[in-house]
Amino acid sequence: MDTSASDVPASPFLEGTNIQFAWDSTSIGYLKTCPKLYYLVMIEGWSPKDDSVHLRYGAEYHSAIEDYDKAKAAGANHADAMRHAVHQLMIRTFDWDVDTDTKAGRYKNRRTLIQLVIDYFDFFANDTATTHILENGRAAVELSFKFELDWGPSHSKAYDSQNDISQPYLLCGHLDRVVSFNNDLYVLDHKTTTTTPSSYFFDGFNPHNQMTLYTLATQVVYRAPVKGVIVEAAQIKLVEPNFFTRGVTYRTQDQLDEWLSDLRYWLAQAEAFATADHWPMNDSSCDKFGGCMFRGICSKSPQVREKWLAGDFIKREIEDRWNPLKPR
Ligand code: SF4
Repeated sequence: MDTSASDVPASPFLEGTNIQFAWDSTSIGYLKTCPKLYYLVMIEGWSPKDDSVHLRYGAEYHSAIEDYDKAKAAGANHADAMRHAVHQLMIRTFDWDVDTDTKAGRYKNRRTLIQLVIDYFDFFANDTATTHILENGRAAVELSFKFELDWGPSHSKAYDSQNDISQPYLLCGHLDRVVSFNNDLYVLDHKTTTTTPSSYFFDGFNPHNQMTLYTLATQVVYRAPVKGVIVEAAQIKLVEPNFFTRGVTYRTQDQLDEWLSDLRYWLAQAEAFATADHWPMNDSSCDKFGGCMFRGICSKSPQVREKWLAGDFIKREIEDRWNPLKPR
């Protein structure tokens, strides 16, 4: 696998086609869950109207922790790093106005965000997991990855045969942090939830597309022999104090190899759907993960779905759509 992957184009699709060559865990997850879901989000660009609240909240939470971790890695003490991160967060969100009458806005707004971040820093003040320092001396916080697989869409080979070039598949993503914990290395991934993170919550991360890709990517791109992922869950509470807990999900080399070998078949399927211009509904997935966001659309007759989509969702411009090649 080539980890350089430079000079990549801005679109994750082969030019003039719906064949995706740059993938991340989100788009692979859509494909594996339901080809129609993948089509509606990745090809058509539909997203829920309140998506921006969840995205902004998650992004600001990650940025605040990143600021703290970087300050700590640079030598600041806990109090100074915390002051710096909260200060930056308050500046960035100064004019972030959320409708707190909606369910999303009730849990995810500026006030709950700042409280969550402060509680996080208090809870992990004496954290025994320490930020890993990479071979180049950089603290392993908010790392992007992008690496080539040793195969690509068959269409790209036929298309570019005269030029003797073909586009390999790329795997892309972002890691929150790599940490040393009990003398082993792990990816650390932050999750926020409004429900109680029980053992059932953590069991859901193995098997798990995102966690397997993160383990693989850290080994390939950053040459860090990570054992798996520490999933760090923050439960947002409206009345009681926010709650934090961690669970570890391990991956063996054989599991990573198996995931990659399976991926070859999934990506071939995606190419076949795009070539046929048909993305079938996997109606066994509609009730999974709390219910698919498009259930209210797919339950309608095909002729009227577009009208319902336009009423309940936003069709994003191409540059605003989910794109694995976009830097965070
Ligand atoms: S509602 Fe069901 S068929 Fe429609 S996109 Fe979601 S999972 Fe697929």
